[in-house]
Amino acid sequence: MGKSAKSSLELSGTRAVPPEGIAEAVARFEDFLRRRGFKVTRTRLWIAERVLKFPGHFSAADLWGALRDHRVSMATIYQTLELMEQAGLLRRCAFRGIGARYESCLGREHHGHLVCRRCGNIVEFDDGKVEALLVKIAGAHGFRLEETVIQGIGLCAECRRTEGERWVPR
Ligand SMILES: [Zn+2]
Ligand SMILES: [Zn+2]
Repeated sequence: MGKSAKSSLELSGTRAVPPEGIAEAVARFEDFLRRRGFKVTRTRLWIAERVLKFPGHFSAADLWGALRDHRVSMATIYQTLELMEQAGLLRRCAFRGIGARYESCLGREHHGHLVCRRCGNIVEFDDGKVEALLVKIAGAHGFRLEETVIQGIGLCAECRRTEGERWVPR
């Protein structure tokens, strides 16, 4: 805990956000809604709590499927996801090939993604070096970077094996 995640495995495997962390984030969300004049509803707060517990990356449809028994409308889900994004609790990643996925910002560092266009598998990696390079390039062009989105699209190791491609692990 608290250490910077180095490997992709650590990043994608550990979602150790303690319950207090989630409760605090839900409180922050409630505060955000109030300050911005949005309605504070039990459904929104309940969805927020569920979302923050959701491991890894998920689509709005995944979330809707997970909450199906609770009769939450897709519109409410989209609205809540967008509000959570505005509140800085959620990040929306527009992945080429597989579409948008969301991920919690709690306890996560900025990271890059490798996206499998075949099975939708997402591998996270520490993008510090790539980002540093981008900052340098931007600087050389007098460009002020506001955001970096680092993603690679291709085939994951599993799909390469399935396709019979010879793959030599490092
Ligand atoms: Zn794959
Ligand atoms: Zn991610």
